[in-house]
Amino acid sequence: MRVMSETQTGESVLPPAPGAADYLALDFVNSAIALPGGQFIDLLGTPEAANHWLTERDLAPADAGVREMCATQLRSMREHIRALFAARTAGLPALPTALSAVNAALTRAPTAALLYWDETNGPYRAAPCPTTEILDHALATLAANAADLLTSPDADRLTACGSTPCTRYLLRHGRGHWCSTRCGDRVRAARAYARRTQPPS
Ligand SMILES: [Zn+2]
Repeated sequence: MRVMSETQTGESVLPPAPGAADYLALDFVNSAIALPGGQFIDLLGTPEAANHWLTERDLAPADAGVREMCATQLRSMREHIRALFAARTAGLPALPTALSAVNAALTRAPTAALLYWDETNGPYRAAPCPTTEILDHALATLAANAADLLTSPDADRLTACGSTPCTRYLLRHGRGHWCSTRCGDRVRAARAYARRTQPPS
């Protein structure tokens, strides 16, 4: 398996999947990209890459100081949302752990600065920890967007890309079941090859 450098953006490899511009959650679940030939790109693979991904989407300042623990939380949320998308597209019940992870992210986000009491200066308000607050806010935003998508009429068009080994999700338009022309071309090429190499029955 070849892991590409973290500075490489997913956009340079595949354009955003249909619907990813409308739903941040789609963009999020597609931040792990499997390409033919065993290539794998994880746009959240390192703390720096995760910070960059969040900054590009206005979810964190460039100097947020995302640490490995935060990047791990993001990747874990991505798996939970992917599990919910998979359940929705397959018409299966949601994994309880995925559901509670999304709900925990939604309820954990602080809506207001907390109240503190200083021994000398008395009460004051502040965020518990800037980085924690940023990450919780980002996780809540991503979880809320996934919940929006799953409960909107668009959820009927939610589809996993049908071109192995691609694992991206998209919102289907018409009959297209692929996240990109590149993935569609690969399927068409494979079918044409199969037709050429199989004897007529
Ligand atoms: Zn694809």
